[in-house]
Amino acid sequence: MVMAPTRQVSLVIPRVFSRARSTAVFRAVPSSRYTESEGPEGGSWTVPARRREWKREEVQALFDQPLLELVFQAATVHRQHNDPSRIQLCTLMNIKEGGCSEDCAYCSQSSRYSTHSKASPLEQVETVMAEARRAKENGSTRFCMGAAWREIGGRKRGFNRILEMVKEIRGMGMEVCTTLGMLSPEQAKQLKDAGLSAYNHNLDTSREYYSKVITSRTYDDRLETINNVRTAGISVCSGGILGLGEDESDRVGLIWEMSRLPEHPESFPVNALVAIKGTPMEGQEPVNFQELLRTIATARIVLPTSIVRIAAGRHMFSESEQAMAFLAGANAIFTGHRMLTTPTSSWDEDKAMLSRWGLTGMKSFESKRLAPLAYDMPPNDPTFHVDTEPSSRDERGSYAMRDSAASQTSSS
Ligand code: SF4
Repeated sequence: MVMAPTRQVSLVIPRVFSRARSTAVFRAVPSSRYTESEGPEGGSWTVPARRREWKREEVQALFDQPLLELVFQAATVHRQHNDPSRIQLCTLMNIKEGGCSEDCAYCSQSSRYSTHSKASPLEQVETVMAEARRAKENGSTRFCMGAAWREIGGRKRGFNRILEMVKEIRGMGMEVCTTLGMLSPEQAKQLKDAGLSAYNHNLDTSREYYSKVITSRTYDDRLETINNVRTAGISVCSGGILGLGEDESDRVGLIWEMSRLPEHPESFPVNALVAIKGTPMEGQEPVNFQELLRTIATARIVLPTSIVRIAAGRHMFSESEQAMAFLAGANAIFTGHRMLTTPTSSWDEDKAMLSRWGLTGMKSFESKRLAPLAYDMPPNDPTFHVDTEPSSRDERGSYAMRDSAASQTSSS
């Protein structure tokens, strides 16, 4: 059942497992922060209740649990806070490729590396709108646009064009997101005024490992942009990349940093590195699925109301693996024909996959953390989701939660 966000949940689960990977969850988690229950000796397990703050060692202890235990806990937390049958379909378009002055070691669009990616000018509004329409027709409810820039800086004409794209796409009833590099408070406000739903700016990895990946801007620069986005009233999409040569403590560090933001990000994308020839990361081994799953499950517990997004690299994992990730709390995918520079599966393939697992696509603004603004909700648009009826079950017994989007905008 989907619980009200402020409710403390007590759920006792029969003890079922054997091998602890390192510390048992009951050592890892102070009982004062969790619901009351007996520990392993008592024959039962507790599931973490919703909380706002975590110590890093607590996140590490969650992460270190036996994998299926962790998945079970994450699946339970997911059901307490989200409709587990709903997956958000997003389409990401590269509106300005290549030629970026930054040195992100994984990125084919950096001008510092010799890759297949070539610098191109900013796309025209009409071209982007055609892509957005195609995405909407195919079931995507969020349209994201990425430009390979360090920052918008003084690109006034280009920025005005992007503002027009945002307005137009929002007018279609879609959630609209951009990722344009570093953002000033004023630029964030202009994007907000144009109707931007969310802004993506990843922390990428832990603070300690960050300098091994990027040297041309700091971790704190990234946090500053995230703060500017948040202050402007735009939803924050921020996550990371696995497979950069980081270790598990860096994955934990990334999740922990997210939990320390003044407000949890509305969206936490988890990317698996797609190693691109010509970048410093070209020789990296692909991350294994168990590490991806462990990261998703831990993020689901620590960020219970955030959308956890399987992003780049999803095509490297089988359908069954992806289904396991959905079970563990992932509830968004990128779909269409491409992400920024890497492949993804098509709308038809993804819709067929979701159908096989009893999952359906979210409507626009269905996420409880992302409230539509009353003034710009197109009337009679079926992609908008504004029901206020209490939860009910559909004919398959899956959840059909219909909380008022407008009434729930913050996490904790
Ligand atoms: S990840 Fe973004 S900021 Fe970094 S090099 Fe690529 S386009 Fe530039």
